[in-house]
Amino acid sequence: MIGGGPAGLTFARVLHRHDHPVTVLERDPAPDARPPGGTLDLHEKLGQLALGKAGLLAEFQALSRPEGQAMRILDVDGSVLRDWQPRPDDRANPEIDRGQLRDLLLGPLDVRWGRGVTEVVPGTRDGALVRFEDGRQETFDLVVGADGAWSRVRPAVSPATPHYTGVTLVETSLDDVDTRHSDLARLIGDGSVAVYGVNRALVAQRNSGGHVKVYAQFRAPLDWHTNLDRHLGLNRRAGLDLADVEAVRSSLLALFDGWAAPVLDLLRHGTAFVQRPLYVLPVSHIWAHVPGVTLLGDAAHLMPPLGVGANLAMLEGAELAESVAAASGPGDLDEAVRTFEEQMWARAGRWAEITAAGLERLVSPDPAQALALFDEVQPS
Ligand SMILES: Cc1cc2nc3c(=O)[nH]c(=O)nc-3n(C[C@H](O)[C@H](O)[C@H](O)COP(=O)(O)OP(=O)(O)OC[C@H]3O[C@@H](n4cnc5c(N)ncnc54)[C@H](O)[C@@H]3O)c2cc1C
Repeated sequence: MIGGGPAGLTFARVLHRHDHPVTVLERDPAPDARPPGGTLDLHEKLGQLALGKAGLLAEFQALSRPEGQAMRILDVDGSVLRDWQPRPDDRANPEIDRGQLRDLLLGPLDVRWGRGVTEVVPGTRDGALVRFEDGRQETFDLVVGADGAWSRVRPAVSPATPHYTGVTLVETSLDDVDTRHSDLARLIGDGSVAVYGVNRALVAQRNSGGHVKVYAQFRAPLDWHTNLDRHLGLNRRAGLDLADVEAVRSSLLALFDGWAAPVLDLLRHGTAFVQRPLYVLPVSHIWAHVPGVTLLGDAAHLMPPLGVGANLAMLEGAELAESVAAASGPGDLDEAVRTFEEQMWARAGRWAEITAAGLERLVSPDPAQALALFDEVQPS
């Protein structure tokens, strides 16, 4: 297994439950080597199903935040357009911090940290050859590439590479929101608040411990920061240094100029700003089966972040692990992987279409599209 994200760890944890040996090779030098990222909602029929297969559903339920499903939508003038609260017993999509999910999955797993992979060569005499950043190499009977968007395993099975969607997201965070920014804490509530304007959106999501992630999203070319005047219509001729926190803040405030003051406070109080241009793989990305190598999660089907990528990644990890554990020999194992790939492609293809269409509507010239989408998926 290459990659210790949601896909790789779920795969390894389910195999571990079946007493099947598995090696997880992860590039990060330690579990907490970098910030784990924002909260994830795990769906009953996807991520939670996977946790059930790993025997971890009860622990997830104890950690997760069902109240985090709450969703408020504001107009750019700050008026409330929708204020959706889950029922007290609603467990359809509870939220969990990524770090908590990682630790839950890690449990007893033996992960080899700091083992960045550079290349996988299938079809060698002893199986698939894995080359590492430190110059070492090793052979495995099955290599599962769960190494995310910029997978180094993917070229062993497919020439596809991610392309830019035309939407960039700039992420910032607020800490101790309940004590330090109580007005914003009330605005965000227990879950998320979203505001949709013309070709831009602001979303704030509560994580545990009073931490909030804020995502400023806008349509722009990849090099938007090199010329804010030309690319975003802002009256600023100089390029923007993305490492300059105050310059990024000021540019975002100009980009969202005219939006209600409490909404802009989400940017005013944000700490660091991290740019995340949204990339995707082609919808319905498939490949000719290569014995000894397969892909899972974002490595196989990177799609817009509309709340499903980690869910699919985990369910795929769990399903492939069950198939591998049930296989009785090399031929059987290869057939199991082949069958798994067909199932994964069909399901991921459907979600890739849904999320691509969703992104078009959420960051759209017509903000009413975003509201209509919300009403379609959350109609109560
Ligand atoms: C802002 C944002 C919000 C999101 N919100 C949600 C949400 O609410 N719900 C949801 O379901 N999805 C969400 N997603 C999508 C979700 O984050 C991904 O789909 C999910 O993380 C994919 O899991 P993965 O295990 O396939 O890949 P990753 O999470 O990317 O994990 C890949 C792992 O492989 C390691 N790795 C990479 N390269 C190498 C290498 N060469 N060698 C060894 N190891 C390597 C990485 O360090 C990493 O640990 C969101 C995404 C974004 C950007």
